[in-house]
Amino acid sequence: MVSRCLNRLVEFLFPPACPVCGAPVSIHGELCGDCFSCFDWIGNPKCEICGYPLPRSAATGRLLHCPACAAGACRLRWLRSACVYDDASRAVMLPFKHGGRIKYARFMSRAMIWALRDVAMDCDVVMPVPLARPRLIHRTYNQATLLARPIARAMNVRLDVDSVRRRHRPDMGHMTPHQRKENISGVFTVVRPDRVRGRRILLVDDVFTSGATLGELRRVLLDAGADSVCGVTFCRVVRAI
Ligand SMILES: [Zn+2]
Ligand SMILES: [Zn+2]
Repeated sequence: MVSRCLNRLVEFLFPPACPVCGAPVSIHGELCGDCFSCFDWIGNPKCEICGYPLPRSAATGRLLHCPACAAGACRLRWLRSACVYDDASRAVMLPFKHGGRIKYARFMSRAMIWALRDVAMDCDVVMPVPLARPRLIHRTYNQATLLARPIARAMNVRLDVDSVRRRHRPDMGHMTPHQRKENISGVFTVVRPDRVRGRRILLVDDVFTSGATLGELRRVLLDAGADSVCGVTFCRVVRAI
C-alpha cells in the first residue's frame, strides 16, 4: 500500500517523458511517436545471418542471405541490429556514448530485444564489448554494458563483463575497414577461459560498423573454447551492396 502510494507520488512528480524530446509518454523510458518514427527500424526482409536489410523484392519465402553472407564473409553465427546508423540514430548514439545520456539505454535495449525476436534465443552468456581501462575511467561507464544488462535480464542469462580484457588503442572513428582490422587485432585477451569454454555467447555493442571489433572478439572467444558467438547492436552501418 505504502509503496503503491510512493509510486503514484513519483509518477506525479516525474511523469514519464520521452528521453529524447521530453514529450509526455505512457511508460518511463519509451520514445514518443514522433521520435520513434525518426528511426529507420530494421524489419523484414533481411539477411538471416547478419541482419542486413534487404529490398522488399527479396521476400520469396526461402532462406535469405545478403551477398556478403552468401560468400561466407560473416564471422558471427548471426547478428541483429535494431536500426540503421543514420542522422537519427547518430543523434542519440553520440550523447549516449560520450555525453552521459545513459537514460537512452532503456529504449535502446528494448529495441535490441525486439531485434532478437526472430532468432533462437539459445545463448547462455551475454557479453558487452569490453572498453579499455583508460577509456572506461575517462567515460565512467561502458555504454555496451548499459545495453547488455537489460538484455541479459530479458533472456534470463548471465551477464559477463570481466572475462575478456581490452588493451587501449587509438579510436577507430576515421579508419578504413582494413585499418580497423589491423588496429583491433590482438587487443582482446580472455582472462577467464573457464567462464567462456563451451558457452554460447551473445556479444552486445552500440553500433556495428565494419565488423572488425565483433569479428576479433569472436576469434579470441572461439580460441578460448566458446561454443558459438553471435551479436546484437542498437544500430548498424548499411552500405549499398
Ligand atoms: Zn520524443
Ligand atoms: Zn548477411
